[in-house]
Amino acid sequence: METVGDLLDLLPRTYLDPARPADFAAVSDGDEVVVVATVQRAVTRPMRQRKGQMLVATVADDAGHQMDLTFFRPFGHERALLPGARVVCSGTVGSYGGRRQLTHPEYQVLPAAGESASGAAAEGSGSPVRVFSRGLIPVYPGIRGMSAISLYAAVDLALHAVDEVADPVPETVRRRRGLPSRLDAYRLVHQPDSQADARRGRWRMKYAEAFVIQASLAVRRHSSQALPAVPRPGRSGALVEAFTERLPFALTQGQHEVLASLRDDLARPVPMHRLLQGEVGSGKTVLALLAMLTVVDSGGQAALLAPTEVLAAQHHRSITAMLGPLADAGMLSQAEHATRVALLTGSQGAASRRSQLALAAGGQAGIVVGTHALIQQHVQFAELGLVVVDEQHRFGVEQRDALRVKAGSASPHVLVMTATPIPRTVAMTVFGDMEVSTLRELPGGRQPISTHVVTGDRAGWVRRTWERVAEEAAAGHRVYVVCPRIGAEEDPELGATEAGGTYPGPGGPIEEPGAGHEDPGLHGVLQVYRALEALPATASLRLAMVHGRMAAPEKDAAMQAFAEGAADVLVATTVVEVGVDVPEATVMVVVDADRFGISQLHQLRGRVGRGGHPGLCLLLTQQPDGPGRERLESVAATADGFELARADLEARREGDVLGARQSGGRGGLRFLQLTRDEDLIVQAHEDAWAAVRDDAELTAHPALRDDLARLDAERAAYLERG
Ligand code: ADP
Ligand code: MG
Repeated sequence: METVGDLLDLLPRTYLDPARPADFAAVSDGDEVVVVATVQRAVTRPMRQRKGQMLVATVADDAGHQMDLTFFRPFGHERALLPGARVVCSGTVGSYGGRRQLTHPEYQVLPAAGESASGAAAEGSGSPVRVFSRGLIPVYPGIRGMSAISLYAAVDLALHAVDEVADPVPETVRRRRGLPSRLDAYRLVHQPDSQADARRGRWRMKYAEAFVIQASLAVRRHSSQALPAVPRPGRSGALVEAFTERLPFALTQGQHEVLASLRDDLARPVPMHRLLQGEVGSGKTVLALLAMLTVVDSGGQAALLAPTEVLAAQHHRSITAMLGPLADAGMLSQAEHATRVALLTGSQGAASRRSQLALAAGGQAGIVVGTHALIQQHVQFAELGLVVVDEQHRFGVEQRDALRVKAGSASPHVLVMTATPIPRTVAMTVFGDMEVSTLRELPGGRQPISTHVVTGDRAGWVRRTWERVAEEAAAGHRVYVVCPRIGAEEDPELGATEAGGTYPGPGGPIEEPGAGHEDPGLHGVLQVYRALEALPATASLRLAMVHGRMAAPEKDAAMQAFAEGAADVLVATTVVEVGVDVPEATVMVVVDADRFGISQLHQLRGRVGRGGHPGLCLLLTQQPDGPGRERLESVAATADGFELARADLEARREGDVLGARQSGGRGGLRFLQLTRDEDLIVQAHEDAWAAVRDDAELTAHPALRDDLARLDAERAAYLERG
């Protein structure tokens, strides 16, 4: 905390009602507590070990449970801590001689009914704290080196010293919504008379946060609409038509609709900012390709940004294959209107990198595929017209800013695709400046996926899991086995022979989902691979593995082997999470599945059932019960991505949802909870967008303008840091 504003923005964790004291029976050693109690007796006596006196005041809660307040310098406290006095005290609970105590607590004597606050001295400060004169007592989140009472005194001082604070929420909006001013809101949250006061103040602080975010999105939207973009309407008789003729299927109704909006957007002289969401396999990629070809037909280039190298390489392969001779410009096999598809990954050799960069810079490559970082940092385009960002639900405002910088005077059109359904509040908060399209149906031929949880304590089920894997392979299908970590060569052998199970594995129970990917208690790729080689059921299968420590050519070779059917089983980390497309894959086994998030599991199982055969997803866990097990059951219970996204949001902290922005600290959400505050966000959205519509320069709202400038500065700083 650096400013008075920071201090006032510190929201109390909870409130104590002086009329309802705490229950001392519920505290234990080491707890930081703020309690209200009644002094029963206070005894000053000489110390045993040293010279001088000590004071022990015994206080009790209403049930009669006692606690001692111990002072080794009793001076002054004797007069304050009189029997019968009501006190609020804060400190760390310890024990001495079997009795609970607070040593040198901070405290304040509460005024008796009808009396004004007394001036008891707080330990250490030497100055009187006159704070708890009425109403509820706020309890702040712990701040090291500062007790609750000192914090309260500091806030009290600030509230008395400040008589005006700039308020980003315009007066008209406040009046219409019946919201208190910002200063009043501070008084309400820090010194409420009632819980209702506290709620009113807190609501207003959340509202202001949502309002500023929405206003910033509205301003962005407004200013991006004012930027020039080159219209890319496409043209007839060129790539798009030639490609459409080559497509082995007809677009679904939903795909047609989305394509029409993409075309409309691209044809306008302002940049497209569109988010396309749709389940894995709903056919987003083919739409992106059609959009890219439309831009190429209009003399521009398109960049396709993938989150990982594996995906970039796969996109490059599948796009090149789908285009066939249309991607052979400059070669003998080239078709009329043909273009080139360049690929840029971090691991490609210098020579090939140079040639691909030259294709991008010279404009021969109509489509450039690569990883986000690479394209954003290193690539020059001759005529960048469209950026497609694939499978990136954390592609926040900051990253979109980076793209704008890239394109120079005219902004490129931007299409962001995600297979992770985005709950409404997140969409409004993170992607509020974009148009959203949704593909709701899966194209024909997609098969349902059934999902089951297999717990390690059921040896028979575990054995059946691996038998099932072998049966699928025998039927000519393919199987993914996903593990939470890579592991090491020296990891212990799994019990491959006993009862035919590789599960439960080496470690004990797991407590915290999502923690440490190299937790030795978890199954590693290398280990599971070896175990499957040894297991009777799977020993004769052809295995491959993919993980992040392999060199790119090795990874590619393994993926290729699996895709072509030279391998039956692919043991992998989550590198297969997004986008990987092997139609013959029918089974996905996720090992230590409780270690994965809900959305991640949903993504993972989307890898199977992509051909004509039904998919099966088996979630192995060493946790027979507990929260991890519950999450797995929720994944098994529904295939509805939106429902799962909501469950996921509830299970995670907001920071994860919003992505990197949150790690920037002040740039993140302070008060809002996206799962709970939907009504409030919707109201703030309406109000803020209306305010910006009426006054895009915000001339009438200087405080709001200042807040937006600060937000922009934080975002710029975030981008600088990379
Ligand atoms: P997404 O990117 O949304 O996960 P893809 O575009 O990769 O989905 O499509 C998944 C699979 O479905 C691909 O093999 C693709 O060729 C195929 N596909 C896409 N659209 C259709 C359609 N309209 N009819 C049949 N198959 C389709
Ligand atoms: Mg895809």
